[in-house]
Amino acid sequence: MSSAYRKPHTCWQHRASQSGGMTYSKPARTTTRQIPSVLISGLLVVIAAIAAALGYQSLASSSSTAASPIDVLSSEHRGLPGEHRGPLGEADGAVPDGVTVFDDGIPGVANLDPALLGAVRQAATHAADDGVEFLVDSGWRSPEYQERLLLEAISKYGSEGEAARWVAAPNTSAHVSGDAVDIGSSDATAWLSEHGAEYGLCRIYSNEPWHYELRSEAIGHGCPPMYANPTHDPRMQQWR
Ligand SMILES: [Zn+2]
Repeated sequence: MSSAYRKPHTCWQHRASQSGGMTYSKPARTTTRQIPSVLISGLLVVIAAIAAALGYQSLASSSSTAASPIDVLSSEHRGLPGEHRGPLGEADGAVPDGVTVFDDGIPGVANLDPALLGAVRQAATHAADDGVEFLVDSGWRSPEYQERLLLEAISKYGSEGEAARWVAAPNTSAHVSGDAVDIGSSDATAWLSEHGAEYGLCRIYSNEPWHYELRSEAIGHGCPPMYANPTHDPRMQQWR
């Protein structure tokens, strides 16, 4: 696993909380001592039946959510030429540590939309006068890389719906189209939060202070209101 891929900075990684796993409390032993054994055995039968039903439902739901995207991924990979075998790297949009918005040799930077890249570089040039450097956590991503990130998010958050709050599907991601950049350092995102609109650079999601896209109409007018998270974005139609 390359150092590049060890750092899968995405729009969803900064959140530590997990979606709740199932927890079941055991029956309190102290109360059962006063209950006749006939009632206890009857109760155990009921509990066993409930547990069996819950176990079946849990198995069924987890297999249904896990199977479909994996099937999609593997079928896509079967149809691809050999260069996409093996781990995904810089050619798919993984960005090594320390890359700036000026690093043309990194596909994650070089494949960004030229207008977005021009605006980010202009802003970065002016920010440098304030001693601020624009590092890139993530920029353009191949559909295969986005699919991998989505699968990791589904695994992490437990459902497609919860994962959608943090990472988009390949067919809707602004990263795959080259229209979004995740800026790395906090001083840079603070600088952009204050000055980005002057360059048409806008935050889109309240929960992603690092994610910027080009909104040229923001120049002179300010950025449009942010969505709380990507599930509120009309572009992410497949989750609605
Ligand atoms: Zn992003």
